[in-house]
Parts: sequence; structure tokens; C-alpha cells
Amino acid sequence: MSQGRLVVLAGPTAVGKGTVAEHIRAEYPQVWISVSATTRPPRPGEIDGLHYHFVDDETFERMARDGELLEWAVVHGRAKYGTPRVPVEKAIAAGQWPLLEIDLQGARQVRASMPEALFVFLAPPSWDELVRRLIGRGTESAEEREIRLTTARAELAAAEEFDVVLTNDNVKRVAADLVSLMGSPSVSSRN
Ligand code: 5GP
Repeated sequence: MSQGRLVVLAGPTAVGKGTVAEHIRAEYPQVWISVSATTRPPRPGEIDGLHYHFVDDETFERMARDGELLEWAVVHGRAKYGTPRVPVEKAIAAGQWPLLEIDLQGARQVRASMPEALFVFLAPPSWDELVRRLIGRGTESAEEREIRLTTARAELAAAEEFDVVLTNDNVKRVAADLVSLMGSPSVSSRN
């Protein structure tokens, strides 16, 4: 069996990474999606073990200390998020192309430790559209939104670090494009 390859999907806040991942989870069950650990509380409808592993700070710190996380970061200056390492390594060894939906800090850490991964940047159709989505989502306070927009501005400039840039103007199409990259021998890394 051939080795799989890790696919890292990153992009600015509110660009719709989570929605794309959710769509892939529903429509492409053959794709293995990593479940991150996080210290943030669950939102209504989020299921522990499916959307995230919701853990307390002490547990997260232990996981990080014991090397159980492939990468981890404090996102938006608030909660900690990290990718459990072993399930990802097992999926790659089993020939899968596991999908990580993570922030830019995490993507950079993965690039340092697994440069052979495929790095995909999800871009908004425009800055105005990104602001509109962030406000429309209504899950953040005005203060939190400001923090996220400041982060997003810096994150948009990072697109050039990635192997592939997909513009999220249509969730279905972008999910299909992303899935079609998986297993494609024509997708080469910049490294
Ligand atoms: P949310 O709290 O809205 O679910 O996610 C906030 C941000 O955390 C998103 O940008 C998401 O990509 C990022 N994120 C989710 N899981 C991970 C992870 O395991 N590692 C890192 N570095 N970021 C993550």
C-alpha cells in the first residue's frame, strides 16, 4: 500500500474552513479528518470527539508536554488548539490523505516538522466578504471580532507560503477541489 500524505487546510478566521471541513465530513466520508483537542468550551451543537476533543487546560498542557500533539497554538489569544499526533501518523501509514483544518501558526509548525505535507490556503473572495462573514456568524463579541480581524489581515498575507490557494466562493466546489487534490500524483510540494 502506498503512503498517504497529510493535507493541511489553513486560512484566515471566518473564511469558512470549518464549513468546508463540515461539508467534506458529510459528503466525502472516505476522507479522514483530524479531530483537534481544544480548551475552548463547546458551542451549541458541537459534539465531543466529533468536532473537537474538549479538554481542560491541565489535560491540554500534559498532552503538549508528552509530545502527543503534532502542533498546537493559542488561537486568537484565547483558547489552545492542537492536533493529536498518533491518529494522523496512523492514517498516513494506512495510505490515507488525512485532513487538518488548523490556523496559520499550526500550519507553520507542521511545515517545519512535516514539509512533505500538502499545504492548502483557503482565501476569501475579498476582504469585505471576510468581514461580512465574520459579522454574519454572530458567534463573537465586538471585541473578539476586532482581535480576529487583526489576525486575519496578517494571515491573508501568508497565502504565498502555501502549495495551493483555493478561493472559498462556493463551499461545495471548494470541497470537491480539495478532495480531488487528495491522492493526486500531480500535486507536488514546493519543498
Ligand atoms: P473555532 O474555535 O472557531 O472552532 O476555531 C478557531 C480557530 O482554531 C480556527 O481558525 C481553526 O482553524 C483553528 N484550529 C482548530 N483546530 C486547530 C488545531 O488543532 N490546531 C491549530 N493550530 N488551530 C486549530
